[in-house]
Amino acid sequence: MLVTLQENLKKADEGNYAVGQFNCPTLEAARAAVEVAEELKAPIILAHAEVHDEIVPIEIIGPILVNLAKNASIPITVHLDHGTNISMVRKAIDIGFSSVMIDASIMSYEDNINTVKEVVDYAHRHNVSVEAELGVMTSSGIGGEDTGGNHLGELYTDPDIAKDFVEQTDIDALAAAFGTVHGIYVQEPNLDYDRLRKIHDNIQRPVVMHGGSGLSEEEYINAIDNGVRKINYYSYAAKAAGDAVKEYVNQNKNVFYHDVTIVALEALKKDYKKAISTFTLKEIS
Ligand SMILES: [Zn+2]
Repeated sequence: MLVTLQENLKKADEGNYAVGQFNCPTLEAARAAVEVAEELKAPIILAHAEVHDEIVPIEIIGPILVNLAKNASIPITVHLDHGTNISMVRKAIDIGFSSVMIDASIMSYEDNINTVKEVVDYAHRHNVSVEAELGVMTSSGIGGEDTGGNHLGELYTDPDIAKDFVEQTDIDALAAAFGTVHGIYVQEPNLDYDRLRKIHDNIQRPVVMHGGSGLSEEEYINAIDNGVRKINYYSYAAKAAGDAVKEYVNQNKNVFYHDVTIVALEALKKDYKKAISTFTLKEIS
């Protein structure tokens, strides 16, 4: 069933677990997440990232995600990941998304607040949840500095500013920077759990972990214990599927594309099964 992010994360808060968000630039990514979630009887979030519009436009993948969610036996939120402007947010809501992220984190604090407020106003009127970001999560391959040469520490979310930000905007979840980065890790992540706990205590709302693939089981559990309720999980699963496809292509003389999609689907399922069971504290049989 299709649920809002607010409903999905409220249950996670009560049960002290996290809900995995899986990006869906391909049909296989979406099917893998839904099939595993149904098997484990665990809630999930299917996401379309605005940057993936060049792989598959939201007009095509969006209705598929909404339908998958409506027909599923478990709660699913359909979410816009890193939306950059109000027109993209409106488009997602028109298609039937139950949650949107507005990422105005590169703007000045005041502009970030005003942009987020506008989105919250519109989304909440349509019973759609909103996630926003404070602090800057860089992409991988940068090795501890952003492209402007700032050390990551300077971009971490400040717990006191987080409190003000959430009070002023009334968002449903906050993407906070406390040591994770997007993509594949080029150096060991060093998560700042004290900062995370202070942020969570201050905002009294679910905290979202971006760059949430590639961490250890212990790191996931510690993050959940300190207030993380949504884990954005994608890069490492996509790489696992890529590795499986590479192996398949190397071993077979004639490669048919539809068989490649099945190889990818199975590899994604295997990876998601481990992730979802860790996030929701379920034993896998
Ligand atoms: Zn992100």
